[in-house]
Amino acid sequence: MHCEILTLFPGFVREAVSYSMLKRAQEKGLLHVRIHDIRDYTDDPHRTADDAPYGGGAGMIMKAEPLFRAVDAVRAQCGAFRLILPSPQGEPFTQRLAQDLSREERPLVFICGHYEGFDERIRLGLGGQEVSIGDYVVTGGELPTLVMIDAAVRLIPGVLGDPTSAQYDSFTDGLLDYPHYTRPVRVRGLEVPPVLLSGNHKAIHRWRRKEALRNTYCKRPDLLKDRVLSQEDRRLLEEVLQEEACEWPLGEPQGSVT
Ligand code: SAM
Repeated sequence: MHCEILTLFPGFVREAVSYSMLKRAQEKGLLHVRIHDIRDYTDDPHRTADDAPYGGGAGMIMKAEPLFRAVDAVRAQCGAFRLILPSPQGEPFTQRLAQDLSREERPLVFICGHYEGFDERIRLGLGGQEVSIGDYVVTGGELPTLVMIDAAVRLIPGVLGDPTSAQYDSFTDGLLDYPHYTRPVRVRGLEVPPVLLSGNHKAIHRWRRKEALRNTYCKRPDLLKDRVLSQEDRRLLEEVLQEEACEWPLGEPQGSVT
């Protein structure tokens, strides 16, 4: 995965990509990141990247020309690319989109907005995909960009130590993850579920699937709403519903596919 990040805060982004999985992915040659300081593409001695909004009102707007120049420079270096515009107005960022980004062969170019955002002519002139990390507003596009890159990078084969780690992560197959335990067996009177100590892999697999369904049902029932359940999942969810003493919460789930 190749990322070109256009930002007013190159130091912040450089620091952030030098930790944990992003660092490891770069060391393994599976992630290539280049950071561009938008101010390098300004044309005045003060390196002005923002200005007041036409029509008045609060806040400053990122000027279009430095951004157009920065994108032209990236195009000259990299050729064709996929442009991502982090924005609270964009399509929601999901695990599916993370998967899609992780498989993208073209360089991903992220333009990090700041202040009130950038001049609308950037979006009109460059197109690109507006993507939101949630229905709230953060100060700049740097954190959303890092969230997207991090979520995508851990899906690239070879980045995680154990390639199956991401397989059971929440949302990968539309359910939440099952609960995890580690040593010791007893902590403040709370014990590890005995099945996890049994060595019976079939029973452990069944327990984990059931608890993933329970987590999803209890925490994010919306994820089950239109899900087509396998016979086994349906059986497990029925057990969960009995244990939780409730009925199908969102209407009957769809029938079995397997
Ligand atoms: N005035 C803009 C609006 O209400 O749509 C918000 C501007 S925000 C303070 C500055 C920048 O942060 C945006 O241009 C975008 O790059 C980034 N940003 C803020 N919230 C975001 C979100 N939820 N998802 C993705 N990017 C976001």
